[in-house]
Amino acid sequence: MKELAFTSIRQLKEKLSKKEISSKELLKFFINRFIKHDPKLNSAVEIFDEESILSHHKPGGQLDGIPGLIKDNICQKTRITSAGSKILSNYRATYDATSITKLKNEGALLIGRANCDEFAMGSSNETSYYGKVHNPWDLERVPGGSSGGSAAAVAAGLIPWALGSETGGSVRQPAAFCGVVGSKPTYGLISRYGLIAYASSLDQIGVITKTVYDNALVLSIMAGKDEKDSTTLNGSNLDFTKNLDGKIKPGIKIGIIENALNAEGIDNEVASALQNALKELEKLGAKIEKITLPTMDYSAATYFILSRAEAASNLARFDGIRYGYSSSKRDSLSDLYEYTRREGFGDTVRTRILVGNYVLSVGHAEHFYQNAKIVQSMMRQEFNDAFKNCDLLFAPVHPTPAFKFGAFAENKLAMDLQDYFTCSANLTGLPAVSIPCGFTKNNLPIGFQLIGPNLSEDLIFKTAYAYEQSTQLYMRHPNYD
Ligand code: GLN
Repeated sequence: MKELAFTSIRQLKEKLSKKEISSKELLKFFINRFIKHDPKLNSAVEIFDEESILSHHKPGGQLDGIPGLIKDNICQKTRITSAGSKILSNYRATYDATSITKLKNEGALLIGRANCDEFAMGSSNETSYYGKVHNPWDLERVPGGSSGGSAAAVAAGLIPWALGSETGGSVRQPAAFCGVVGSKPTYGLISRYGLIAYASSLDQIGVITKTVYDNALVLSIMAGKDEKDSTTLNGSNLDFTKNLDGKIKPGIKIGIIENALNAEGIDNEVASALQNALKELEKLGAKIEKITLPTMDYSAATYFILSRAEAASNLARFDGIRYGYSSSKRDSLSDLYEYTRREGFGDTVRTRILVGNYVLSVGHAEHFYQNAKIVQSMMRQEFNDAFKNCDLLFAPVHPTPAFKFGAFAENKLAMDLQDYFTCSANLTGLPAVSIPCGFTKNNLPIGFQLIGPNLSEDLIFKTAYAYEQSTQLYMRHPNYD
């Protein structure tokens, strides 16, 4: 039984179809994994009871009987959906997010809610109302964020797959910190209906799994047009698993973003793991091209402004009246608003709302918001130009392996600057996948990412799969029996 913990979805499906195990047994097994190990990790804020999980089971689909964990900012009908915030800690979703409906239709068993940074704001999972999440490779370290609970749970073998969400790296960075695969699809590939908004023009649901094949499978199920989200792109019956044959596209050109690879502050062990990954890709037949993307150096600043601006506007709806937490201090309407928001939001969220309102305010919007939009369009152009010459781009995910709790407590700006490697894919809307590529001497995982043109998920997964099959890094996992 024990070995089931680190078994891929692909293999679990086989075991189920050969009747080596029943879906009920599998569900029990993973629920027990949480009971046993999650007190140390805090990766889930809630694991549902078996009966209620099974009550939504629709047998027969592509994920029939395969348990998964859902980030706590994606609505699951009748379940609390808090986005890791006190202000929504009593909010029960009245509908399923489109991605949830699709997963349920394929037979998935959704077993709980993954812990995350409050409103998905953070890179370390230290801002959740439900407490911090621990990295399964080293409990003194962060799992990354904001989808840290999702990544930690998959890495520790508590669940075969989990959903996260990205606005500026929140799936890829925790995936890299925890040694698992994390995908951020093309903007519009997955419906945002039922995803609690942070910065709507950047938000996308992503997938965290142990293997590339599994990731491609879960993503394919969720992809496609949704009339409930007008920003979704056309396309149906996508299957990103179909070209995963262990070979890379003949003659593929991979651009290495030199200004990212040579950026200040890259840890030596990360740098050498990235070099090894490049060598491996070359060995598989890839042609490596050096390129520079100057606008990328402004990505963290641009992301900082745009994400805060949109957050300020999106989070205006939490007023203590319509839903969620409501303060008891309500002598006047403005008191009710003020105290609800003061008591209901944590520090990071309040700070971001303030910054967002500032960059949008009369007299400042031209300097901040409008300039950031200009840089964003230049960045889109620059990336699109790069793809005239390269099929995919290669970049670090994070300059260092997982850091210790509190590492950035005195310097929040330094933490924000680390979004540099990831947030350009969000600003440009491009798809990107983070893949494990090695470990430090202290046994901490390291990842790299492949970024592709719009809707190139097929090619990214194909390349990542070939790399993964030749390195077999997914065989290594932390010790949670
Ligand atoms: N570090 C980013 C932030 O704090 C991550 C956000 C995200 O992708 N949800 O905004």
